Amino acid sequence: MREHITPHGDAWEEAGTTPHSAFRALGAAGLLGVCHRTEDGGTDLGPIGSVVFSQEISASSYGGVAEAVLIHTDMSSTHIAHRGTPEQRKRFLPGMLAGDLICGIAVSEPEAGSDLAAMRTTARREGDGWVLDGVKTYATNAVHGDVMVVAARTDMQAKPTRGISLFIVQPDTPGLQIRPMPRKLGLHSSDIADMVFTQAKLPADCLLGEENAGFQAILQNFQNERLVLGAMAVGLGRKALQVTLSHVKSRRAFGGTLWDLQATRQRLAMLAARHEAVRSLVQATAVRVAQGHDCVREVSMVKALAGETVQDVMRECLQLHGGAGYMADCPMERMTRDARILTIGGGATEVMLEEVAKRLTEESFE
Ligand SMILES: Cc1cc2nc3c(=O)[nH]c(=O)nc-3n(C[C@H](O)[C@H](O)[C@H](O)COP(=O)(O)OP(=O)(O)OC[C@H]3O[C@@H](n4cnc5c(N)ncnc54)[C@H](O)[C@@H]3O)c2cc1C
Repeated sequence: MREHITPHGDAWEEAGTTPHSAFRALGAAGLLGVCHRTEDGGTDLGPIGSVVFSQEISASSYGGVAEAVLIHTDMSSTHIAHRGTPEQRKRFLPGMLAGDLICGIAVSEPEAGSDLAAMRTTARREGDGWVLDGVKTYATNAVHGDVMVVAARTDMQAKPTRGISLFIVQPDTPGLQIRPMPRKLGLHSSDIADMVFTQAKLPADCLLGEENAGFQAILQNFQNERLVLGAMAVGLGRKALQVTLSHVKSRRAFGGTLWDLQATRQRLAMLAARHEAVRSLVQATAVRVAQGHDCVREVSMVKALAGETVQDVMRECLQLHGGAGYMADCPMERMTRDARILTIGGGATEVMLEEVAKRLTEESFE
């Protein structure tokens, strides 16, 4: 991260994307296949590896880079790894793990975000291929990426949860328009687009996994995604606390430093304790997932608690920087904007809390 990410982060923020050169550097270090099987060229370190990687790349302070890379490693290429045919895996995974092919996932739609089952994009068979119609939105990596995993309804008669399939879509698909979205609050070094399908023609071999089993696939992959997003909050929070501790110890005020003021020390001590509690929950959950337990409740707790706690960490750390924290050349300014997504993307806090609440029993507290 020190060598290949941090020195270039500002330029990528300016460019609005994390380029292939960054992915290739991570690929050369073996870091794009941490959660992928060895037979696919990965290192098979599972959720523990994913969590460590997510924390480290996020602690670079460039949330946009972390977003672009983690969507590639843990949220999209994993669908090809888990559900792809041997031909699909052979065709795409070597390039993805090397960083030559950037991957993303397009599930959300203008009318279907938290309520994914409401998605309207359709895919119907035509000849020996498929025709897609509809609009996907907030598709990270769609502007400069090479391969997108796209969800569409394939059975209109079935309940939506039983009538959705996944497709492997490349940007040169006839009938597909990729429209970059307006500038966002943060994550400037990751690109984002609408994908507009108008009778877009896909070949037969683009169906990913079993037909009509896409919704279950999305739910399954959510577990690793949400864990990794919790770890992203931990990485960003760690960097904010480090930067802030260093700042308050050197910033002079009232005849000493800000650190000499008891209020500052106690504030940072409580933030450190909350950060540590979240970090422990993220890591313990990664271990339980790796052991094969059903962890929907714990993973949902991770996503909700980590996403909300990091907002407090950012607000307090920026406050302790005073005016300097408000300026664009301070990493706190960027990290505060970048971390804001973590209560929304990949499952809003409220949606996560519903998942936790559904699974609460009196025994949960034993
Ligand atoms: C920067 C960015 C990157 C993204 N990248 C991708 C991507 O790569 N691929 C992709 O498919 N999607 C992506 N998304 C979409 C993201 O996952 C959705 O924004 C998210 O799921 C929320 O959906 P929504 O925006 O439609 O909000 P809505 O579903 O309209 O919800 C709005 C708000 O309502 C509240 N709410 C929702 N449900 C409930 C509930 N059950 N109970 C109580 N309150 C509730 C929450 O506060 C929520 O934030 C991205 C979004 C952003 C902003």
